[in-house]
Amino acid sequence: MRVLVTGGAGYIGSHAVKVLRQSGHEPIVVDNLYRGHREAVPADVPFYHADLADGPMLRQILSRHAIECVMHFAALAYVGESVMEPLKYYANNTAGAISLLDAMRETEIRRLVFSSTCATYGEPERVPIVEMLPQAPINPYGRSKYFVERILADEADADDRFAYAALRYFNVAGAAADGTLGEDHEPETHLIPSVLLTILGRREKITVFGTDYPTPDGTCIRDYIHVEDLCDAHVAAMAALKPGDRRVYNLGIGKGYSVREVIDSAQRVTGRSVKVEYGARRPGDPAVLYADASKIRAELGWEPRYREIDDIVATAWNWFSRHPRGYASG
Ligand code: UDP
Repeated sequence: MRVLVTGGAGYIGSHAVKVLRQSGHEPIVVDNLYRGHREAVPADVPFYHADLADGPMLRQILSRHAIECVMHFAALAYVGESVMEPLKYYANNTAGAISLLDAMRETEIRRLVFSSTCATYGEPERVPIVEMLPQAPINPYGRSKYFVERILADEADADDRFAYAALRYFNVAGAAADGTLGEDHEPETHLIPSVLLTILGRREKITVFGTDYPTPDGTCIRDYIHVEDLCDAHVAAMAALKPGDRRVYNLGIGKGYSVREVIDSAQRVTGRSVKVEYGARRPGDPAVLYADASKIRAELGWEPRYREIDDIVATAWNWFSRHPRGYASG
């Protein structure tokens, strides 16, 4: 299938481009390069440096390439930043999606796979999180994505041939197994990259945000899913979409690891020790988040290949140890 990948120069989008090509599809990338990297997209993949706000450009790309499905990754994804600059999140994530949907409607393209997030659940009333739990996001980032999910449902009400899958990601981690792609964020705030950059000497220490949570070791528990497993799920969701489908799936491995366990894993995998500081809680962090991903497993036959944190961290280490300065390392 010819697939428009928005945000295809970003961390997850670039891995999606790779997985799409490996599974016989033809990706076309649009990215505004605000946080993406041109080097992350192979030279022989059509690339457009454009913003989602540019409707005429989107329409041109969609029709020029006779796009059959859109995978929509382009978005901002820092919770803290979203609290400080909410308009930036609603403009990029919510209005950006509206502009894209509008262009799709004009060009009669009716198939979309959307990057949603477990942040749309807010503080869940129980774990593991199932898709039917109420969505009550607690920050602008989660709300900016939640609104898009609602808009997709409305669009499906208005056009019974429109089909979408909203995939609610848990903690996406790791890097391409062959070492060609990886995570390169500025600023980098995620746990696994932060620990590995500290081990590489790029940072002085890793701070554990909170040790008094009601968990076995007192630190927060999260569900880390490998980026390639996540992208496989996108390809499976795209293949399953029939006119009128509204599919919503959690994407995690269904198992949680604590912050302490992730740090221990990084030390095992790298064979190096890291300086750890125990600090205060980070505002807005729920204690325990992990997915019940049985719906996508049952309906699409998707299974994560990576289930152990050491295996996920090893792929991230493979990338960071060879690219300590990200794509700028060459
Ligand atoms: N975390 C931490 N120190 C860091 C970065 C993250 O203790 O330098 C914790 C954070 O509080 C959370 C977990 O690690 O419990 C995962 O955080 P991350 O930012 O990677 O993802 P999030 O769960 O916020 O999407």
